[in-house]
Amino acid sequence: MNIRKKMIINGVVQGIGFRPFVYKIALKNKISGFVKNTSLGVIIEAQGSKSDIRNFVLDLKLLKPGQSEIESLKISPLKIKNEKEFKIIKSEKTLKTQSIIPPDLALCPDCRKEMRNPKDRRYLYPFINCTNCGPRFTIVKSIPYDRPLTTMKKFKMCPSCKREYENPFDRRFHAQPNACPDCGPRVFSIAGRKILKGFDALVAAADIIVSGGICSLQSLGGFHIACDALNEKAVSKIRKYKVRPSKPFALMVSNLKEAKKICFIGEKEKKILLSPSSPVVMLRKRDFACDLIAPGLSTLGLMFSYTPLHEALFQILRAKGFYNPLIMTSGNKRDEPIAKTVLQAREKLKGLIDLALYNNRDIHNRIDDSVGFVMKDAFYLIRRARGYVPNSIKMPVGSKKSVLAFGADLKNTFCLTRDSHAFVSQHIGDLSETQNQDFQSETVSKFKKLLSVKPDIIASDMHPNYHSTLAAKKTKARQVKVQHHLAHILSVAAEHQIKKPFMGLALDGTGYGLDSNIWGSEFLSVRDLKAERLAHLAYFGLPGGEAAQSEIWRCSLSLIKMLDKKFLLKGKQLLKGIKQEKIRIVEKMIESKINLPLTSSMGRLFDAVASLAQIRHFAEYEAQGPMELESLFKNKSSNPYKFLLCKNQNKIIIDPLPVIAEILKEPFTDSRAQIISEKFHTAVALMIKDVFVSLRKINKIRMVCLSGGVFQNKVILYLTKAFLEKEKFRVFTNRLLPSNDACVSLGQAYGALKKIEFKL
Ligand code: ZN
Ligand code: ZN
Ligand code: FE
Repeated sequence: MNIRKKMIINGVVQGIGFRPFVYKIALKNKISGFVKNTSLGVIIEAQGSKSDIRNFVLDLKLLKPGQSEIESLKISPLKIKNEKEFKIIKSEKTLKTQSIIPPDLALCPDCRKEMRNPKDRRYLYPFINCTNCGPRFTIVKSIPYDRPLTTMKKFKMCPSCKREYENPFDRRFHAQPNACPDCGPRVFSIAGRKILKGFDALVAAADIIVSGGICSLQSLGGFHIACDALNEKAVSKIRKYKVRPSKPFALMVSNLKEAKKICFIGEKEKKILLSPSSPVVMLRKRDFACDLIAPGLSTLGLMFSYTPLHEALFQILRAKGFYNPLIMTSGNKRDEPIAKTVLQAREKLKGLIDLALYNNRDIHNRIDDSVGFVMKDAFYLIRRARGYVPNSIKMPVGSKKSVLAFGADLKNTFCLTRDSHAFVSQHIGDLSETQNQDFQSETVSKFKKLLSVKPDIIASDMHPNYHSTLAAKKTKARQVKVQHHLAHILSVAAEHQIKKPFMGLALDGTGYGLDSNIWGSEFLSVRDLKAERLAHLAYFGLPGGEAAQSEIWRCSLSLIKMLDKKFLLKGKQLLKGIKQEKIRIVEKMIESKINLPLTSSMGRLFDAVASLAQIRHFAEYEAQGPMELESLFKNKSSNPYKFLLCKNQNKIIIDPLPVIAEILKEPFTDSRAQIISEKFHTAVALMIKDVFVSLRKINKIRMVCLSGGVFQNKVILYLTKAFLEKEKFRVFTNRLLPSNDACVSLGQAYGALKKIEFKL
């Protein structure tokens, strides 16, 4: 006897060949009925014998496509119908939106093979895709995810493409962006007055690169700037244009062999590089000439040709006998959002590029390349964007209320929640740039539309002058403030679904504290919806406030002045190259305590140590000194510096001055900076362990959440985890989000939903 069931499936089930997959397993199990995409999720009505239905559900769970994720599967009985076939029904739109669009997927091995085959009809076609790969989030305007609601709407499929699209046994069955050279998007190039189309345009771009010129490429989530990575002239020109004298650039290669010539690549790193997310992975560089690309650093960011456009370019370069890696950096000026339209690219990149490669497939949602690193077989994100957004994060809280959290001002992301799901936006960037503020508000509207939610609660940072705080203020709904470092560690708790009391440590550059000082080394506990500050670095002055972030020698002078007078002369000797006059002005600032905000920032302490190690006194980009200090680290020190832990009422205050004094005593040898690096990194990790051990004696908490930008330092992350785990702590870190300020929006949203309060 037959039965009929209705199934509603939610999760990442649209745009990855889920319906074709359902069709196939329906045929296999002799099921009739239908499957359709709705904004409630994928709906199946399945009719067959009891055992066939059972096997069908089993197949659904076990054989689902690799990119898909079933979060819920609701099954209810229906009345039997008279039907013989199984069909895929056109999508419909219903009121409440539940389903989620997948992130963009990198070129799959099958498509890569096809486009490399001269006999294939999509030979070197820059827009080849299938149900396993291709654009998704970047082209979606609205859901359900169907071609007419994407920027592919304007292209009408030719008979051959249509046949593939309609054939359930084809790899392109219902692949929404399916296209070929006859019917799909096309590239064209503009160099001066010369306009070329299709293949000729690609060849012209390749010629420019071979001859040492610079191209812009309309890519997946925005424009790239590309050139020969080994051409000093071209690289310097981009540096000058982006006002980026030493900040590292990402490289692109098209196969593993090329990648291995430049970097050391472990198994896990290889897996991530070749994954559908295809991020930039930070790898240990080989000794060769890449100093131009990442000066002063031991690592290099590298990614694979993740779109067919990039791949086609590499194939043509190959044919010309050119095998160098390419610089592939975002098409923008310093700190601005990545260019998305032809007009923006022309405006932004004027004067830099020799040729622009455009195409007529519009980018609806702009998104940067994601960046991350591997440590001990785990992947950590530094920038979360393409390939990861708009995947959601499940929080350990169920709420009918929706929160919009505006995040922090640096490395901004925002977070919009629906039920227990948090949707963290792509990397927005530094909000002091007005174009990034516009990018944020534009993306907030898009997320609201895609998720069909109207926020009930607005969460933001406590900093009164943050742009994100001001943007939050303008949004009408109940306002909640969440302290910066509490948000950091709550993001970890949300990611790992931690419900029990836990301690947390946020180590970062800056965050507004409850006492209006600039916090940045915060040991907190969260228990019974109450957060408490248990320990922190002793305050020191930041002469000139913000100026101390780029003139990092100011941090060291401030700390030197707190030591005994006998250190002053020695300390000043280390500040070689800085004008006496300037030093005197800053000394006055310190003595008079004017323009001298107080901070407990670990980021600034690292800056000071980088300056005292004479690595640099001025930073071009955030954490440049600390990153170079980390690059010198080879082995854990057996004779580390020692922080002094002082009990003050119920708090532990961590005094860094003994460390500074020891650094000043280091003899001037060739390995001085390396010795300082090793002793200092080890000291910080040991201090963290010691503080947690003594806090645990009082509160008996074993769970520890680590967050903050300082944990992007691999040495600190590794040593801290190792020391704490040896003491039987359970250690959690950000894994789905970066540990820098990109995770703050999630922590704010979670804190607002849970109503966690901070007591001083
Ligand atoms: Zn494919
Ligand atoms: Zn076609
Ligand atoms: Fe932070």
